[in-house]
Amino acid sequence: MHGRARSRIPAHPVPARPVPTRLMPAHPVLGPWVLAGGAVLAVAQGAPGLTALAPVRRLFPGLAGAGAPDHVALTFDDGPDPGFTPRFLATLAARGVRATFFLLGPMVQAAPQLAAEITAAGHEIGVHGWEHRYATVRGPRALRDDLARACDTIAAATGTVPRLYRPPYGVLSAGALIAARRLGLRPILWSTWGREWTPGATPVSVQATLARTLGGGATVLLHDSDCTAPPGTAVAALGALPWLLDECARRGLRAGPLAEHLADGPGRDYRTNARRG
Ligand SMILES: [Zn+2]
Repeated sequence: MHGRARSRIPAHPVPARPVPTRLMPAHPVLGPWVLAGGAVLAVAQGAPGLTALAPVRRLFPGLAGAGAPDHVALTFDDGPDPGFTPRFLATLAARGVRATFFLLGPMVQAAPQLAAEITAAGHEIGVHGWEHRYATVRGPRALRDDLARACDTIAAATGTVPRLYRPPYGVLSAGALIAARRLGLRPILWSTWGREWTPGATPVSVQATLARTLGGGATVLLHDSDCTAPPGTAVAALGALPWLLDECARRGLRAGPLAEHLADGPGRDYRTNARRG
């Protein structure tokens, strides 16, 4: 089914040069689009700063991962990475906290046992895609093949079919939304991040960034791999993780996977895809 796509997809998402930053602007012409209620709305999600995310949060609280007010969703993108993911899993296990991991197909293909360990530890998994590229520069067929291949690979490795989808760079397109719907995937972005991929980021800088925007109902984005970001990205995130868990506890916020987060939060009103258990 995906043979044609497979032949042109590189074996690994790492580009010849690291993707410089997740702050790359949206496609100047196409832009990212969100379909809602029959309308087509452009959202400035291609430059996914919190300012750009603000209108997304207001218009689509479910899409931005708004959840129960006493809960914070922990999400990790770009793994599984044998160099880092086990350390994230160990930190979470030591605190008895579960999270959601958005997996890249080639990373799962390269480390299927590690992907299985994530689910065996009780964590939730979602699909991040196969190629780590903007949805807005890809056609509907390519997006569908990409997501289907990644989902098949994740399911084969873990025995679990993903139900959540976070597009690379948080950029959605009409084609991506249609592909997600056909595959039974719910798109989820984030509301809070650590900016650990920025040059010179450290655990302290990640903490400071998170502290400014952390709150009840937030969905936190961190990365458990450097495969699409500069070296040091995952280490900065990992170094901030114990603080993040402590800070959630100090504020009386439960930390956990999106499945818990969305069950009682505004995400239940999300209309563009059916809720799934
Ligand atoms: Zn990513």
